[in-house]
This record gives sequence, structure tokens and C-alpha cells, in this order.
Amino acid sequence: MKIAIAGSGALGSSFGFMLQKGGHDVTLMDYWDEQIQTIREHGLTANVNGVIETIRIPIDKPENIQDSFDVVFMFTKSMGLRHMLKAIAHTLTVDTKIVCLLNGLGHAKTIAEYIPTKNIIMGTTVWTAGLDAPGKVHLMGHGPVEIQESDPSGKSETLAIVKVLQDCGLNGVYSEDVHFTTWRKACVNGTMNSLSAILDANIEELFSSTQTHAMVKEIVKEFAAAAEIDGVDLNVDEIVDYINQASVNLGSHYPSMHQDISNRRFTEIDFLNGTVAKMCEDNNIPAPYCRLITQLIHAKEEILGVK
Ligand code: NAD
Repeated sequence: MKIAIAGSGALGSSFGFMLQKGGHDVTLMDYWDEQIQTIREHGLTANVNGVIETIRIPIDKPENIQDSFDVVFMFTKSMGLRHMLKAIAHTLTVDTKIVCLLNGLGHAKTIAEYIPTKNIIMGTTVWTAGLDAPGKVHLMGHGPVEIQESDPSGKSETLAIVKVLQDCGLNGVYSEDVHFTTWRKACVNGTMNSLSAILDANIEELFSSTQTHAMVKEIVKEFAAAAEIDGVDLNVDEIVDYINQASVNLGSHYPSMHQDISNRRFTEIDFLNGTVAKMCEDNNIPAPYCRLITQLIHAKEEILGVK
């Protein structure tokens, strides 16, 4: 399969690595000059669950790519999605599928502004990736990657991509309800990630506080209210249990929003707690936790002079 990765940071490069190793024709696309230069000169080095290997893989800025692709995996941060969709427009055919595995809410609607719904495949993943240096990434865990087409006509192509992900060791799974999975993942990110960033605590430290458990429940209630507006039924107690269970396996891990703040980079808060606060407030439902969390994270970005 001819595959492009649009946004080749931690997760994008790692997926590119796995897909090329699995025998596919993969091109990385990115705007980060140091990443492009390093991968061109020294290759892409990935540490996948402790096994380190370097491969040669093409990488360029989207505007320099002349090819078109069967599948494009989007791996920008949420705030970079729209810009990347415009930048890759010339690489898409009428049949190119876009697979979106970004964290956050509202991405399917954004993508639908640029390509037909029949070509959109949404998903979530619990693989954990990190950038060790330009050209050097690590990928930890076992996944899965759960995906589902936005339009029923795209099911057979989605199943084919699930098979590709399975064959490449990425643990692809066909999701029967990706809309629910997306909201559930957003609940995890909207509690663990934002609180870890605000409190400067790893997951073990965070969940050792009784205050955290109380806040997680209140935040999830606000997410459930917003999800209902979006036609998704979230059971608050089940989601809280799911988050607590996830926290047990993460121990000393600092979630990506904490890493973004530490590295003075913009966070995805507007696509998580920020979206929930706005959806609730637009419908006259108070969402004080999500509103305050969004303001605190933006205040931190401003204090740090993030650009
Ligand atoms: P990332 O920050 O590593 O990469 C995103 C973009 O930022 C890429 O285009 C990358 O090249 C660029 N970038 C990264 N560091 C840069 C730097 N120092 N200077 C300039 N540009 C830089 O993001 P990611 O972790 O790959 O996440 C992509 C999406 O996947 C996000 O929506 C994220 O929430 C989601 N996600 C990530 C993980 C994970 O473990 N990393 C897991 C699940 C979902």
C-alpha cells in the first residue's frame, strides 16, 4: 500500500517506521526542519518496546511531495490539523483515505470540510510514543489502534487498513463505535493529561491524591453532558473506572500535555476540556471544571511564553 504520514513527530514517525518495516511504501511529511534534515542524513531510529533499529525513509515538506497515496495517516497535533489538510490537498486522489488518530474532539467535522466523508476513517490509539531527539523516537505498549469509517461505503477499505495495521505489528482493530471510543479517550486525556500538566505530577503521584479522584469524577460528568449533546452515551462510573484502570498501568509516566508544557509547546487543551466547556455552555449547562482547567493551561502557556 502507498502510505503517507502527515505530521511525523513521535507517533507519526513511529507508525511510519512500523508500516515501512511491514513492507509498505511510506513517505513521511512534516514541517520541522531539524527532523527532516536528521532523518535524511542519518535515517529514522526507532526504539520499539526496547528493540532499536534505524531505517532509511523518505521525508519532505508536503508542498514538495509530487506523489499521491492510497492512505494518509494524520499525526499532527490537533491545532495543526487544518493547516496540514490544506497542505496535502494536492497529494489526494478521489479515493485516498485519510485515517485520523489524533487525540481530541471535533476532528471528523474539520476533515469533512476538505475531503468527502466516504474517504474519512476515524480512530484512537493507546500506543505511547515519544521523541528522544530529532530523528529518534520510541514506541511503547501494544496498542490497539481502533478505526472505523465515517461513511458505511468505506467499510471494506477500512478492514483492509485494519489488516495492514495488524500485519505491521500495530494491533489494528475494527471499531464498531469509534464515536464512543473517541469520547472515552478524550475523557482520559481531559483528566489525566490536563491535571498532570497543571499539578506537575506523574500519573502515580496524581492518582495518589484523593482530590484527584474527586476532580476526575466531576470532569467526567461534564464530558458526559457534552457527549450527550453529540449523541454519545457515556456512563460516568464506567468511564471513571476505565480511567482509574488506565492509571494503574502508567505509573511514572508523564502524559503528553505535561511534556508539551515542559517543552514550552502549545497543548491540545482547546480540543479536550476547552471543547467540552464550550459545548456545555452553548447549551446552558455549567462546566466549571473544564472551563477552569482550560484557563489554567492557557495561563501556563502564556506564562511560559509559548509561541
Ligand atoms: P508530536 O508533538 O510529537 O508531533 C506533532 C507535530 O509536531 C509533528 O509534525 C512534529 O514534527 C512536530 N514537532 C514535534 N516536536 C517539534 C519541535 N521540537 N519543533 C518543531 N516541530 C515539532 O505529537 P505526537 O505525540 O506524535 O502526537 C500526534 C497526535 O497523536 C496528537 O493528537 C496526540 O494527542 C495523538 N496521540 C499521541 C500519542 C503519543 O503517545 N505520542 C498517543 C495517542 C495519540
